[in-house]
Amino acid sequence: MAMLQTDTDTLLMKNNSTIRKDGMQNTKIVATVGPACNSYEKLLELVRAGVDVFRLNFSHGSHADHLQVIQHIQAINEEYNTFIGILADLQGPKLRVGKIQDNALPLQAGDVITLVNENVIGTREKIYMSYEQFAEDCEVGERILMDDGKLVFEVFETNKKDQVKLKCLHGGVLSSNKGVNLPDTNIKLPCLTEKDLEDLDFILTQPVGWIALSFVRTKEDILEIKKRVEAAKHPAKIMAKIEKPEAVRNIRKIIKAANGIMIARGDLGVEMPMERLPITQKEIIEMCMQFSRPVIVATQLMDSMITNPSPTRAEITDVANAVLDGTDAVMLSAETSVGHHPALVVEAMTRIIEEAEKHYWPQIEGRRPKAANRARTFQNDVICFNACRVAEEIGAKGIVGMTVSGYTAFKMSSYRPKARIFIFSDQRQALHSLNLLWGVQCFFYDRFTSTDETIQDCTGILKNCGFVKEDDILINTASMPMYKRHRTNMLKVTVVE
Ligand code: PGA
Ligand code: MN
Repeated sequence: MAMLQTDTDTLLMKNNSTIRKDGMQNTKIVATVGPACNSYEKLLELVRAGVDVFRLNFSHGSHADHLQVIQHIQAINEEYNTFIGILADLQGPKLRVGKIQDNALPLQAGDVITLVNENVIGTREKIYMSYEQFAEDCEVGERILMDDGKLVFEVFETNKKDQVKLKCLHGGVLSSNKGVNLPDTNIKLPCLTEKDLEDLDFILTQPVGWIALSFVRTKEDILEIKKRVEAAKHPAKIMAKIEKPEAVRNIRKIIKAANGIMIARGDLGVEMPMERLPITQKEIIEMCMQFSRPVIVATQLMDSMITNPSPTRAEITDVANAVLDGTDAVMLSAETSVGHHPALVVEAMTRIIEEAEKHYWPQIEGRRPKAANRARTFQNDVICFNACRVAEEIGAKGIVGMTVSGYTAFKMSSYRPKARIFIFSDQRQALHSLNLLWGVQCFFYDRFTSTDETIQDCTGILKNCGFVKEDDILINTASMPMYKRHRTNMLKVTVVE
């Protein structure tokens, strides 16, 4: 096709579809990296099994550990022309107890314990908790949960300075460094802790597509981190982890301020009445689709596979239901980071997604977003959504979009079209973030000469990669004139020759 040997030419040869064992699903898989999967070979095995984005959890591991993983992922992307994304997940103001003597403190209902600011080895008399102002901020009667809600306490007395007495309502064995949730307390800690700022300094030197912030409470938390990322001129997009009831109350504003959302069911399920979780998941996904923000359903999807070689019936159903709720991605945590069967769990998830997607559109039709005519981007949005509609009406195989910022991909993906979404960009790092989006297949393309030629090149790439064949129909969108690199303003029907 072309005379010049450019990156685009090498992409004519191979694409990530060729390293996947099976077909391509629309719903993406995010896998958390940890000791069970952090070698080059293991990561590659997980990509082959269906992982689209790796999550680096900054609650664990050193910067050197994370750097090594980032380098492996980059090596995979280079070797296989994939756009496997990286999601750097900041711990945020997560509260923990300190070390516990003998790593076990049995507690029963009615027992009284004291939380203090001093970093002591924990005993019945004194236990350290990582929240200086706790005594000041809490009120008598508020609930305190430890170890994912397994232990329940109530504030019994606070000296408003450095000591809080708790009465145990539901006992268990407390061990070292367990998480603490304060669903009722108005926590005054900043959204970015000192540790987060150090981690962020490191992350901003790395090619990560997404940065997630834990325990987001308001849209200001998102604006704060966005400001820092923009100041560093880093292209990473920001994901808000929804794991506090306060965030659920502010969800609309948080969705608008962030680039993506994670429904972090682990902490959310502890902090809010658990029975509200399923509907909250559906409502957040729905709203994310309306605002064209990708959303991840996270935590415990395949929990039993941390040790077992196959999932429970409930887990299979949970993954399928998340797909049918319309999520962009489902996430694995301990299942891949420390589990016994990281590859098996990804393979199982891929199979469940594949089957659920056969029953997808009847669940989605009628829920698709509409272009808001007061939006600045109204005209572009109309083109993106209508490209999807036209594709459906004429039975097109795919919709081809060009993007610099990723905007077109976000819009098209949120419409959940039946045709695949092929996104071409010369911004590698944008492509790494777009790989998270529902249905989006990424391609590098850096030869923007004329619209005619670009459309021809893209069609050629798709044909060479086996995504389309002669007589298939593609819907092309683009921005004309091309050199201005504006938002999508053109729609064309192409028959593959
Ligand atoms: P975490 O977030 O794994 O960082 O706690 C996810 C969740 O809370 O569900
Ligand atoms: Mn969490």
